[in-house]
Amino acid sequence: MRALVKDIINKEGESIELLGWVAGRRDHGKLIFIDLKDRSGIVQVVFLPKPQELPEKAGVLRSEWVIKLSGKVNRRPENMVNKEIPTGEFEIQAEALEILNESETPPIDVDSDGYEIGEEVRMKYRYLDLRRSRLQNNIRVRSKVNKYIRDFLTRNDFVEIETPMLGKSTPEGARDYLVPSRLEPGKFYALAQSPQQYKQLLMVSGLERYFQIVKCFRDEDTRGDRQPEFTQLDLEMSFPTREEVMNLTEQLVIGIVKEIFPEREISQVPFPRLTYKETMEQYGTDRPDLRKDPGNQNEMAFCWVIDFPVFEKDGKTGKLTYSHNPFTAPKPEYSDDLKNGENLETMISQQYDLALNGFEVAGGGIRIHQPELLKKVFEVLGHSPEKIEEQFSHMLSAFKYGAPPHGGIAWGLDRLITILLGEPNIREVIAFPKTGDGRDLMTDAPSEVTEEQLKELHIKISK
Ligand code: ASP
Repeated sequence: MRALVKDIINKEGESIELLGWVAGRRDHGKLIFIDLKDRSGIVQVVFLPKPQELPEKAGVLRSEWVIKLSGKVNRRPENMVNKEIPTGEFEIQAEALEILNESETPPIDVDSDGYEIGEEVRMKYRYLDLRRSRLQNNIRVRSKVNKYIRDFLTRNDFVEIETPMLGKSTPEGARDYLVPSRLEPGKFYALAQSPQQYKQLLMVSGLERYFQIVKCFRDEDTRGDRQPEFTQLDLEMSFPTREEVMNLTEQLVIGIVKEIFPEREISQVPFPRLTYKETMEQYGTDRPDLRKDPGNQNEMAFCWVIDFPVFEKDGKTGKLTYSHNPFTAPKPEYSDDLKNGENLETMISQQYDLALNGFEVAGGGIRIHQPELLKKVFEVLGHSPEKIEEQFSHMLSAFKYGAPPHGGIAWGLDRLITILLGEPNIREVIAFPKTGDGRDLMTDAPSEVTEEQLKELHIKISK
C-alpha cells in the first residue's frame, strides 16, 4: 500500500512503498542517493551497492522521472540529519524500484523558488512550474482560504449560489467579453463582469444571504497586474446596515489571517475608517497604505474607505458617471436630492472599500432598492428612456415586486491572497494565469478558429 512521504517519520524500521517524482540524484562512489517527492513532501533515498541490480537501475534515474519505490525507513546518524526538511532525521533504504514514467530534461528548474526564471517560459510550461514547492504551497493555501470562507459563511446562514457566466451586455464599468450566439444570428452574450445584477435579483427572490466564489471577466487594457478573468468572493445580504456588511467582512478577513496566516500581524482592529475626502487629502489616493513600516512583510494594514461621492465627473467628457456602480445607494439624507436631481456632485454614497497595504481588496455598498430612484440614476447618467428599458428593464421590473433593502461586497480574492502570501504579483497565486496582454502562453490562446466555426456563428473577420 502506498505511504506518503510526510508519514515516514512514524514508520521507523518499517518497509514501505512510495510513489512520486525524482527530485535529484547524487552518486557518491558506491552509494547512490536520490530525493523522492510526492504531494506531501520530500525524502532522501539511498541505494546500497547490493543487490547489484538496484544501484544499476537507480543509476539511470533523472530528475522528474516517476517511480515506485519500496524501502525501509531508517534513522539517519546524528551528524547526517537534514534540518531543512521535516523528514530530515530519516532516509529510505531502497529495496525495490520500478520506473513508472521517464521525463525529458525539464526546460525550467522546478526545485528552486522560480523567481529567477523568466516569466514567459514559466507560463509556457506552467504545468511544470506548478511543481515547485512555492507554487504548490500557494495553490494549497488558496484552497484553504476558500474552505474557510465557505465554512464561515455557511455557518452564518449564507447560501452558495452559482449565477450565469453567459449574460446580457450592460454598461457596468468595464468592457465586456462578448460571446456570439449561434442560434440567434447577430446577437451576443456577455461574460459576467461580476454577478452584481444576479445577486441583487436573488435578494428580490428572498434568499436573503448569498455568496459565491466566482470568476469575473473584464476586457480591459493591460494595467499592471490585472487578469482578464479573476476571482471574487461575492456576497449580498438583505436588510443589512452598512455596519453589518463591514463587520461581517472584517470578522471573516481576521479569521482567515489568524487561521491560515498566523505569522501576519493585523495593524489595527477594528479596521480604521477614513472618509474618501480624508484619504484623498491625507494620502492622495482612495487606497491608502497605512503600514508603519512598509518593509515589514508581516504587517497587514487594513482600512475602510467610506463616504464616496455617488457620482463623479468623467475626465474626458465632463459628463457625470457613477463612482462605483449604478446600483449604489446615496446616504438616506440625499434620497430627495436624487429624486429632484439636485446636488448631484456633492451627494455621498453608502459605498465602502477595503484597502490593504495600499491595494483595494474589496468593495461594495448598500444598494438602491426603489425602482424610481434607480431609474433616476440612469437618467442622471444620461441614458435615454429607451436605453434604460432595453438594458435594465429586468432590474426595474424586479424591484417593483417587494425588493428588500440590500447590500453586499465583493473581494478581489487573487489580490488578497497575493498580499497575504507576500507574493509580488497575482499570477503567483493563480494556477493558469494569463500574460498582461491577455494571452495564455501554455495553450496559445486566443487563437484563430476555422472558417466553419465562424460561419456557424455568422461572423466574418475583416482584417
Ligand atoms: N459587483 C461589485 C464589483 O465587482 C462589488 C459589489 O458592489 O458588491 O466591484
